[in-house]
Amino acid sequence: MEWAAYFDERTETMPPAWTRRLEEELLAEQVARCYERAPFYRRKLGEAGVRPEHVLNVEDLRRIPFTTKQELRASQEAEPPLGDFACVDPVEVVRVHLTSGTTGKPLVLGYTAEDLRTSSRIGARAFWAAGARPDDTLLHCLSYSFYTGGLADHGALEETGATMVPVGLGQSRRVLELWDDLRPTAIFSTLTYPLYLAETAQEEGIDPRTLGLRKLIVAGEPGGQLAATRRRLEELWGATLSDTYGLSDVWGTLAAECDERDGLHFSGPDGVLVELVDPETGDPVEIEPGAGGELVFTHLAREATPVLRFRSRDLAEILGVECPCGRTGFRFRVAGRSDDMFRVRGVNVFPSSLEELLRERGLDRFAIVLDRFPVEPPVEILIEGVDGREEELTEVVKARLGFTCVVKSATLPRTEAKAKRLYRVYDGEERPT
Ligand SMILES: [Zn+2]
Repeated sequence: MEWAAYFDERTETMPPAWTRRLEEELLAEQVARCYERAPFYRRKLGEAGVRPEHVLNVEDLRRIPFTTKQELRASQEAEPPLGDFACVDPVEVVRVHLTSGTTGKPLVLGYTAEDLRTSSRIGARAFWAAGARPDDTLLHCLSYSFYTGGLADHGALEETGATMVPVGLGQSRRVLELWDDLRPTAIFSTLTYPLYLAETAQEEGIDPRTLGLRKLIVAGEPGGQLAATRRRLEELWGATLSDTYGLSDVWGTLAAECDERDGLHFSGPDGVLVELVDPETGDPVEIEPGAGGELVFTHLAREATPVLRFRSRDLAEILGVECPCGRTGFRFRVAGRSDDMFRVRGVNVFPSSLEELLRERGLDRFAIVLDRFPVEPPVEILIEGVDGREEELTEVVKARLGFTCVVKSATLPRTEAKAKRLYRVYDGEERPT
């Protein structure tokens, strides 16, 4: 069946000048509501000497200080559960999700019924770009516990009209048993999961390519848009792979790759305003092709727990503002989380770039073990199935990533969930083996 090219053509192909006008209109309302209802933001604007009625565009917005996760956490500790940045009466909240951050206590984020509709709308545009269609039977294989990846993304995928199968984690064998009954055509999961499911199928003597899965839609791990990983998974399944992006502090899914597979299209101009800033200085960086920086988010239509100038710690590169697909949402790739990045003698390293290099060589499981801080070479890298190629890999890592390592063969834990790559042993984390 032929489907429309867009989920929401008007918004997705809106000319930039209209988008700006829409953003400004919603921004003024959002800031006024935050000021009026949330002591947290009244303090923030007050300390900066900013009157809410003077915040009319992104330049005005930049006079408001950033909001960090630590501040939101402190606010919720002082006034549980939602903190004093919440803008609604608790009775209006119909759901809470937790943030899935790897560091510290999670945040509790509230949604009104309207917030859930906004989340589904923004997510549905992204998932449609990623290929979800009403004639898909889609296995949702992220954890349904707590996080937006579960129910919030489920709602957004369902909004596309796809037939959803709520699978969650821990059901791989069951899914394979039921495969002929369900006839799934698509899967939504972490980048790791399709690999795990393929291995499980192979153990049962099933070639994943015979299973008829056509679309892999992945989330939650920087590296999903990387070429080697994509090739490997597409070959394993005989399917196409699209990456998506979102964060539980803002909207569960707010960007995805279109058929061009040339970066993630931002899909939420009516729900969140995106700024790019220098991660070190916080100075604004224009969103234009080639620009890089940290993504900063300001809700434009969030009733329950809005954020203003929230520092995501996600480092992005802008790839373009136009696309042959006709979508006008800017395209970007996420290089990684600044929290995951480590520095070896002045070289910035993202585990995702090592992942890319290893997947090119058919190696999927690895762990980086950091024993001391500051990190000094050689960095210890444990790799499963590396036997005999340790020296070759040490050289490739040095040549391509610019740091010295020592490669050791190891058996690493198998997981359906997001794979853990970085072990900060100096910070009290346990070694993987
Ligand atoms: Zn496109």
